[in-house]
Amino acid sequence: MAEFYVEINAQSSGDHVVHTADCSLLPSKETVHYLGSISNAKSAVKKATEVLRQQASGCSHCTVAYQTT
Ligand SMILES: [Zn+2]
Repeated sequence: MAEFYVEINAQSSGDHVVHTADCSLLPSKETVHYLGSISNAKSAVKKATEVLRQQASGCSHCTVAYQTT
């Protein structure tokens, strides 16, 4: 399990990036939304899309370790 956050501001692609709590690329707390403690990145991205009603994708830096196989 890991704590996941999603960026409130979208990238130019329209995606909102999902990060784990310990990611070095995680922006300041004011610009992210806490998603909760989630077992894998796929579920975290799905939750982000539901919460924001926008498209989301996992950060390539921190969510790799939480991809389901
Ligand atoms: Zn990240």
